Amino acid sequence: MSERIDAVVVGAGVVGLACARALARAGHEVIVLERNPAFGTETSARNSEVIHAGIYYPKDSLKARLCVAGRALLYAFCEEYGVAHRRSGKLIVATNAEQDAKLEGIRARAAANGVDNLCVLSAAEARALEPELNCTAALLSPSTGIVDSHGLMLALLGDAERHGAVLALRTPFVAAEVKGGGFELVTGGEAPMQLRTRLLVNSAGLAAVAVARGIAGLGAAHVPDAYLAKGNYYALTGRTPFSRLVYPVPEPGGLGVHLTLDLGGRARFGPDVEWVSEIDYAVDPQRAERFYGAIRSYWPGLPDGALQPAYAGMRPKIAGPGAPEADFVIQGPAGHGVPGLVNLFGIESPGLTSSLAIAEQVVAALGAR
Ligand SMILES: Cc1cc2nc3c(=O)[nH]c(=O)nc-3n(C[C@H](O)[C@H](O)[C@H](O)COP(=O)(O)OP(=O)(O)OC[C@H]3O[C@@H](n4cnc5c(N)ncnc54)[C@H](O)[C@@H]3O)c2cc1C
Repeated sequence: MSERIDAVVVGAGVVGLACARALARAGHEVIVLERNPAFGTETSARNSEVIHAGIYYPKDSLKARLCVAGRALLYAFCEEYGVAHRRSGKLIVATNAEQDAKLEGIRARAAANGVDNLCVLSAAEARALEPELNCTAALLSPSTGIVDSHGLMLALLGDAERHGAVLALRTPFVAAEVKGGGFELVTGGEAPMQLRTRLLVNSAGLAAVAVARGIAGLGAAHVPDAYLAKGNYYALTGRTPFSRLVYPVPEPGGLGVHLTLDLGGRARFGPDVEWVSEIDYAVDPQRAERFYGAIRSYWPGLPDGALQPAYAGMRPKIAGPGAPEADFVIQGPAGHGVPGLVNLFGIESPGLTSSLAIAEQVVAALGAR
């Protein structure tokens, strides 16, 4: 006998929790299925915790629109729910004439995305803010910040639960079938269940493609290929002289080795981009070697031996190495023809920043307001 429920969200990362909260607040009875013994232990716990402004993404892309909208929602949410965060600001630094020339293009792209508060700084102005910086010019992004991602997820879960949502831990989604205007769904784990639901949100992050493949009745043509791009981080031992995030001018293929801070003021460098075929969060100490030169271009004072392996995250890619960057995919009934289903594919950066805006889109795609 199946248990009946209004809405099932697969995955209790930051995006799944934001979706569960939005659905619960819209009056739906929601259960969140999470395969791990705790919520938010995968990509949502293995990122830079940066509240991105929305600078680099192609104009009108979902990444651009949802980052800008999500940032505003996120700052407001953090204020209202007391989630630790800081508008640290970020510097994008040029270190030669060729990079100087690129700053104006970055400023123009940001403005096209609605981020119109970037300021161009001379080298002296940048050094007045960050005295150890080596640069020829810089852009200051005042809206960039950092957030306690665990605190954010805790607050999202708390609010979802206040509105009646239930989190089922150690409860993996196994399979579903499109049936009778809804879904028959089977879970695994120690206490397997059969659920009947009208709405199904696949927010399984690195496993979203596998979960979609497990939905009988969803056409295979609607499920993209999955790739993994690991991002390694190295922590700075000792105190950092920087109080803002520092990014080089982006290079083709990535944002370059940048410095981010946590809310305790500790600095880390990364993430780099390493294409892998399996999930493996170990950080190879040897890879640090290539970080030193890149970092010293903008921070010549980086001491020898100061970088220690810290942690790694996995980007849930839907475009492989060498292919153009893919946008977020929020695939609702209009995209795949299955009423009541939303698949979230390729929710890499800026997914944390965009989480509340993605949740709004999911609710709208389901017509579940
Ligand atoms: C290296 C790196 C740096 C990043 N930095 C930033 C940043 O600074 N700012 C920013 O905005 N974004 C950043 N991001 C992106 C951001 O971290 C992600 O977009 C966001 O965390 C995705 O959340 P999610 O809920 O979609 O996925 P996840 O956090 O991966 O959650 C998915 C959940 O689904 C569960 N699950 C999977 N399969 C099943 C199943 N079968 N049954 C039940 N549960 C299942 C998993 O256990 C997991 O808990 C970064 C990402 C990476 C990889």
